[in-house]
Amino acid sequence: MEFLAQSIIDYSEAHTTPESDSLKELNRETNAKVLMPRMLSGHLQGRILAMFSHMLRPRRILEIGTYTGYSAICLAEGLAEDGLLHTIDINEELLPMVKKYFAKTGVEKKIKIHTGDAVNIIPGLDEMFDLVFIDADKKNYSLYFDLVIQQVPKGGIILADNVLWSGKILDPADEMDSDTMAIAEFNKKVQADNRVENVLLPVRDGLMVMRVK
Ligand code: SAH
Ligand code: CA
Repeated sequence: MEFLAQSIIDYSEAHTTPESDSLKELNRETNAKVLMPRMLSGHLQGRILAMFSHMLRPRRILEIGTYTGYSAICLAEGLAEDGLLHTIDINEELLPMVKKYFAKTGVEKKIKIHTGDAVNIIPGLDEMFDLVFIDADKKNYSLYFDLVIQQVPKGGIILADNVLWSGKILDPADEMDSDTMAIAEFNKKVQADNRVENVLLPVRDGLMVMRVK
C-alpha cells in the first residue's frame, strides 16, 4: 500500500535533491544482492533524514537497524565537527557491504558500528543522543523508546520508521499480526507520553517524529 499516488511520489522525488551517486549505487547493490531490499530508506526518506540531521547538527546520533547502511550515511551528513553516529545491527553478514559504503562516502571515521542485539548494546552506550533513528525489529520499538529516552536531551529528536506498516496499522485489533500489534502499541504509547511532542508523518511507510520536551 502506498499512502500517496505514485505520480505524487514521483513528482516529489523529482523536486527533492537527488541522492549522491554512491547512495544510488548502494541502493542498486542492495536490490541486486540482499534480501528484502524494500527495507532500505531510499531517495525521498534518505533526504528527509539528512534534512533532520542538517537542521539539528547533532554531536551524537544513534541508529537502531543499520541494514546496508543507507540511512546511516544520510543521517551522518549533518553531524557536528566532532560528531559520531553509533549504528547497531544484529546481522553480521551485511558488514562487508556496510563498511565498503561507509568508506566510499567518507563517513567511516564518523560512524561506530555495533554488531549484535540492540537490546543488549544500547544500555552499554554511555552517550547523550541528539538524534535517534529507531528502525530495527518492530516488536522491540516500545522497549527501544524506553531504553533511549533517558539519553536524549531536551530538544533532541527521536524518529521511528514504518509506523504505518503498509497500512496494516488500520487492521482490526483481533486480526493484527504480532508486528502490527507491536507498532500499534508503540504509536499509542508515544501519543500518551507527555515527555515528547510527536507528529506522525505519512511519508513512505510512516515516520514518527518525537521531540523531547
Ligand atoms: N535503517 C535501514 C533499514 C533497517 S532494516 C535503512 O533505512 O536503510 C532493519 C534492520 O534491523 C535489519 O538489518 C535487521 O538485521 C536489524 N535488526 C533486527 N532485529 C534487530 C535487533 N534485535 N538488534 C539489532 N538489529 C536488528
Ligand atoms: Ca525502515
